[in-house]
Amino acid sequence: MTDLNSSLADLRSYYNSHSTKSYAFRKKQLQLLKQTLLAYEKEIEKALYADLKKNAEETYATETGLVLAEINVVLKNLCRWMKPESVETNLVNFPSSSKIYRDPLGVVLIISPWNYPLQLLLIPLIGAIAGGNCVVLKPSEFSPATSALIEKIITEIFPSEYIKVITGDGAQVVSAMMKNFRFDYVFYTGSIPVGKIIYQMAAEKLVPVTLELGGKSPAIVCADANITVAAKRIAFGKFINTGQTCIAPDYVLVHNAVKEKFINKLKETIMKFYSDDAANNYNYGKIINEKRFDKLVGYLADGKIVTGGEYNREKLFIAPTVLENVSPDSPIMHEEIFGPVLPVIGYNTTEEAMNIVERNETPLAFYLFTNDKNEEKEWVEKISFGGGCINNTDWHFTNHHLPFGGVGNSGIGAYHGKFTFDTFTRAKPVMKTPTWFDPSFKYPPLKGKLKLFKWFIK
Ligand code: NAD
Repeated sequence: MTDLNSSLADLRSYYNSHSTKSYAFRKKQLQLLKQTLLAYEKEIEKALYADLKKNAEETYATETGLVLAEINVVLKNLCRWMKPESVETNLVNFPSSSKIYRDPLGVVLIISPWNYPLQLLLIPLIGAIAGGNCVVLKPSEFSPATSALIEKIITEIFPSEYIKVITGDGAQVVSAMMKNFRFDYVFYTGSIPVGKIIYQMAAEKLVPVTLELGGKSPAIVCADANITVAAKRIAFGKFINTGQTCIAPDYVLVHNAVKEKFINKLKETIMKFYSDDAANNYNYGKIINEKRFDKLVGYLADGKIVTGGEYNREKLFIAPTVLENVSPDSPIMHEEIFGPVLPVIGYNTTEEAMNIVERNETPLAFYLFTNDKNEEKEWVEKISFGGGCINNTDWHFTNHHLPFGGVGNSGIGAYHGKFTFDTFTRAKPVMKTPTWFDPSFKYPPLKGKLKLFKWFIK
């Protein structure tokens, strides 16, 4: 504990030395991180295979590639983002000029989960470095191979008073840190219950937070949708990483006119993607641990299995599974599934489908399959969600021009690209007033100046 406290004090001193703030420093660290990740690419693949049975291609597309792309975007734009922005000044302050500076936040804490253990820790880190901060990284204890590798990489390239990795049981180490030290920001990705604990601890010290949480993200397949494409994109978005994706389509609402066709296409697609032996398929991963495995197997009883349903606890394998005849009142329709079990429920009217979506808290993601512009407008305008896609799933996450984050129960704040830089800096407004013009009407005595004030204060 004393060691931890002194490490945190070291980070504070290093931040106070202003060493992290120059453009040259930030750029150099990002370049170093990029080079090192490239050098460690094979080890990253091995670690993600060990933790989640991710193949090399998936690891690149959903982890390493996203981190490298984020570094590239930041390196290309950082100089411009860091420049103070000149903004207009209102009449009452004539002839002042106004600027918005982007100030680093200080010492920030980034906490990540196990499901995308590399990118969910390093994308926020890139923004934190770009913002000129010192950082404590807390990777998940449930993806030990990746977390150990990240610790090795970070320790190798960054001094611990600049970026420090703290591993171990989150409940112990995070609360120990947050109780004993005032972070300037906490960026948390993970479950809703832990998000609430983090928010409470942060509130004690008035620490601002980003909370990237989860929830039940629906996919809606309308009667006019391209069913073949919908089945492919839903199967991809759901079963990648064995369904352990915060933005995976959690369940499908499909118009009854096309339900049978959709289910058949979904079965066909699953077979094409993962064969009839998903347990030994290169493209299919595993469940993170026994606790999650047992929870997921429990969901299999919540409906009629249309395809899949096989499982093996020793291999932490659960087949890509589609369920039908699921009651909207069953547990699987109220808890975030976070695994390869997909309930498919028929509906007859848009209103009926909306009612089912609104039985749960605001989702992190939302997917609509339709070619009807009016249907699209109605859903997008009426349903609140963190972010989403029309005729697609998951891929919006990879577009750094879009802010990624939740709303309501699915989170607070957003990041990616410029939005991450904005998250890890504070807009510091400064107005500069020349001294050559100093009108007396702004000073007391004010009596009799009301009309004048009403004229220019508007
Ligand atoms: P988790 O909340 O159990 O753990 C996340 C992190 O919090 C870990 O580093 C852990 O050590 C730490 N932690 C755990 N208990 C803690 C406590 N009491 N106090 C402080 N820190 C604690 O989450 P998880 O199970 O690893 O992740 C799954 C959840 O995360 C799902 O709900 C999923 O939807 C969500 N998620 C969200 C996003 C997103 O971007 N919004 C991304 C991935 C996962």
